[in-house]
Amino acid sequence: MSADPDCLFCKIIAGEIPGDFVHRGERTVAFRDINPQAPVHILVVPRGHQPNAAATAADDAAAFADIAATARAVAAAEGYDDYRLVFNTGAGAGQTVFHTHGHVLAGRSMDEHLA
Ligand code: IMP
Repeated sequence: MSADPDCLFCKIIAGEIPGDFVHRGERTVAFRDINPQAPVHILVVPRGHQPNAAATAADDAAAFADIAATARAVAAAEGYDDYRLVFNTGAGAGQTVFHTHGHVLAGRSMDEHLA
């Protein structure tokens, strides 16, 4: 599985930088966001380095499916069946870390609609 030595999330996955992990799977890991936007804010991250969700979906459909399954599992483990799964894809969409990740958000009202 590819890793980028300059990538923050590759370093967290490798244990070079600490992460508050809630899941370590074969394809995918999950750790708590350092700047949570909801009571539950977990990042679901494929182990293989891809720059964004579009690239993972195109190149590794199984990894993308695993992200969705892991999101459901980590939300359920936190006690939530209802959650939001967000992929910021590209700088123009607010992506700041260029290693694919899904944000799992839960525990507050999610009834506002996205623009
Ligand atoms: P993006 O803006 O969709 O790329 O999301 C990147 C997320 O990574 C942001 O929500 C940050 O708060 C989060 N983040 C940045 N550095 C760390 C870290 O070291 N540990 C955990 N989360 C981080």
